[in-house]
Amino acid sequence: MTQIDQVDIALIGAGLGGAAAAALLLDAGFSVHTFEQAPEFTRLGAGIHIGPNVMKIFRQIGLEKRLETIGSHPDHWFSRDGNTGEYLSKIPLGDYAKKEYGASYITIHRGDLHAEQIDALPQDKVHFNHRLTDIVERDSDVLLTFANGKKVAAKLVIGADGINSMLREKLLGVEKPRYSGWVGHRALVNMDKLRASGLEFEPCVKWWWEKSRHIMAYATKNDQSEYYYVTGLPQDTWDHETSFIDSSREEMEAAFGGSHPMVQALIDATETVTKWPFWNRDPLNLWSQGRLVLLGDACHPMRPHMAQGACMAIEDAAVLTRALSQSGLDNYTSAFTSYENTRRERATKVQTISNANTWLKEPEDPAWLYAYDPMTADLN
Ligand SMILES: Cc1cc2nc3c(=O)[nH]c(=O)nc-3n(C[C@H](O)[C@H](O)[C@H](O)COP(=O)(O)OP(=O)(O)OC[C@H]3O[C@@H](n4cnc5c(N)ncnc54)[C@H](O)[C@@H]3O)c2cc1C
Repeated sequence: MTQIDQVDIALIGAGLGGAAAAALLLDAGFSVHTFEQAPEFTRLGAGIHIGPNVMKIFRQIGLEKRLETIGSHPDHWFSRDGNTGEYLSKIPLGDYAKKEYGASYITIHRGDLHAEQIDALPQDKVHFNHRLTDIVERDSDVLLTFANGKKVAAKLVIGADGINSMLREKLLGVEKPRYSGWVGHRALVNMDKLRASGLEFEPCVKWWWEKSRHIMAYATKNDQSEYYYVTGLPQDTWDHETSFIDSSREEMEAAFGGSHPMVQALIDATETVTKWPFWNRDPLNLWSQGRLVLLGDACHPMRPHMAQGACMAIEDAAVLTRALSQSGLDNYTSAFTSYENTRRERATKVQTISNANTWLKEPEDPAWLYAYDPMTADLN
């Protein structure tokens, strides 16, 4: 007979949200084991923004200083017209963010961030090669079965298993995410070619064309030695089974060529570029049920245009941990209610703005987003 391991909390998925939840729950004294389907993580070519709202959580986890050393610290988020270069808005970050929002705003390679998060966890509590395949709710626990044959009985199960979450399916039934009608190109550019253009590149800039197209470009390293862009543009259909496909400089040229010289220099410095579909779901009407609870993309996936999807996953992790600490493991029902009541409005607001792709196109005050402190905000 297969042995059944007993754990207090089983966390499914060690992505950016799951790894944060694991660190915070362990720090709060909970017994938690994380199960990840991937055999390991690799440094995929992509960057990510981490706002001050989430750097405060990394302070608690003990990673803030390290991430500050690795990541780039843009002085501003610039929004510019894609053809003329005219500034549409300039949001101060850098020292201003530290002073006004209480922590740094960084842009970083997401592989570097994720590696720091995983390395900070006790390795005997993170189980790779564990793909969850079955969930059975029982009277006093939940029985989880993994593709490798392992079985685990957990008092609580947290679904940090991303947009195709199996836990979401268990709660709400099978429903594929909706293709949003938008794709994004992602590329790390050749720095020698970029420098050869003789132009000076801002550490964090979003180029806008008519409402429907943009390129977001930024440095992913503290010494500005790596520069990355991600685009957003409409495409009627997505007919591929894979999560991304190869694109090309020619495709970039067709979509964005012949515009501002800095945009052209980015295209010219492109060697390898991939194309990703953006998926979506409407806000869920259920975040938890019984002993199961969702966080991050499993719960509120969004188009990435506000650079806050992972930030919302990590904020979820912080608030869920605080709610469980306050109520205790046995009172998980009230913890889950408090978690959802505290998170729903904010996460839905970010999801809505992100999907509309309007964030910082025009001058606006981002304090409501960046000054928020998930470690001290009132729990509802
Ligand atoms: C182009 C692009 C740019 C982005 N830029 C930003 C940005 O600048 N800032 C930002 O904050 N966000 C950004 N995001 C959003 C961000 O990537 C996601 O919101 C974030 O990764 C969600 O984290 P998560 O932990 O919820 O899910 P994921 O990161 O998807 O992690 C889910 C994990 O669960 C595992 N898993 C899935 N199913 C199972 C199973 N059955 N059993 C075991 N394990 C399983 C997966 O292998 C994975 O490791 C961007 C997204 C895209 C597409």
